[in-house]
Amino acid sequence: MSGQPHLIARVLPEYARNEQDKSCHFFPLPAGGGPLPESLRAYCGFHIAPGVAEALEGPAGMPCTTCLVTATISGNTG
Ligand SMILES: [Zn+2]
Repeated sequence: MSGQPHLIARVLPEYARNEQDKSCHFFPLPAGGGPLPESLRAYCGFHIAPGVAEALEGPAGMPCTTCLVTATISGNTG
């Protein structure tokens, strides 16, 4: 059951301009715990810059539906 590790993050409130920014997105992490990439691309294709995002310990607020579904599928299939 250990599938694709992912990070949950969202754009900081002061940078969030729309509903997609305010949603928390799921970002695939490098397998094996390598360093974080310079920029992160969520499962839904949403691009986030590390400086304007905060990592969350779990889904908070409104999750991005596309990310949620994709992360769930990835986690199940490895
Ligand atoms: Zn998303």
